Amino acid sequence: MLAITLLGTGSPMPDPTRAGPATLIAGGTEQFLVDAGRAVLMRLGGAASSAGQLSAVLLTHLHSDHITDLNDVITTRWITTFEPSPLTIVGPIGTRTVVDHILDSLGPDIGYRIAHHGDLDYRPPVEVIEVTEGKIDLGGQVGVSCASTDHKPVEPSIGFRFDYDGASVVVAGDTVPCEGLDRLCIGAQALVHTVIRKDVIENVPVQRLQDTLDYHSSPEEAAKTAARAGMETLVLTHYVPAFPSGGGEDWRNLAAAHFAGTIELGDDLHRVEVHPS
Ligand SMILES: [Zn+2]
Ligand SMILES: [Zn+2]
Repeated sequence: MLAITLLGTGSPMPDPTRAGPATLIAGGTEQFLVDAGRAVLMRLGGAASSAGQLSAVLLTHLHSDHITDLNDVITTRWITTFEPSPLTIVGPIGTRTVVDHILDSLGPDIGYRIAHHGDLDYRPPVEVIEVTEGKIDLGGQVGVSCASTDHKPVEPSIGFRFDYDGASVVVAGDTVPCEGLDRLCIGAQALVHTVIRKDVIENVPVQRLQDTLDYHSSPEEAAKTAARAGMETLVLTHYVPAFPSGGGEDWRNLAAAHFAGTIELGDDLHRVEVHPS
C-alpha cells in the first residue's frame, strides 16, 4: 500500500488554511516528500512525520512556491538528528546550484550552531541527485522513477512515480498534458496532479494571472490524463483559486465529466491510500 498525504494544497497566493505545494508519499517504512512549499514542516508534523524521517525530498521543478521551505527541511533535519543523516534531494538539472545557494544563505546559521553545540561538528549533510528520465536508485524498497513534464517556460520539470508492493502512484507537479507524463502513468493506479481553474482565471483581467493559464492543467485536463492511462484514482491539489474548506464539489464535477474513477480533493492533510488492484 502507498499512502498519499496532501501536505500543502495551496498555491503562490498566501492562504491562512492552505500550505504551499507539498505531497507526502509513504510506502512501508519509507517516506518521500514531493516539493517543499510554504509551511511544509508544520504539515509534516500534522501528518505525524518529521524532517528526520524522510527518505528523500523530490522536487518537480524549481519554482519558488515548490521549494520555498526546502531550507527549513535542510536545517531541521540537521539539528534534530544526532548523527550525520544525509538528506537526499532529487530534482531536475539545476537543483544542485539551488541547494548550494540555500546552503550558502544558511552560512551564518550553520556557523552559529557548530560553534554553540558541542556535539554538532558537521555541516548539514546533503546529497543532491539531478535526474532527467527513468529509474532513480535510492536504495530502498519503494521504486522511484521520473519523466519530463511540460511546464514551459519553466524548464526542466519532472514528474515522479512510486511503485511499492503492487501499488503505484504518479505525482505530476505543475504541467500541461504531455507525452512524458502519459508514459509515467502507464499501469499506475493513482495520479496526484496540480490544477488551476482555467474557466475562472481566464475571466480575471490581470495579466499576471492570465500568464499562468498556458503552463498548468485544468481539472478537466488532469482528468483526461488519468483517464488515458486507465487509472483508478485522481487526486487534485494546488488549487488556484483555492476553494473554501469543505468545498470543491464544482472542481470534482469538472473532473468527473472526463474521468470515471475516484476523485479525491480537500484540505491540507487529506490522505488517500492506494492498495494493489
Ligand atoms: Zn510551477
Ligand atoms: Zn506551482
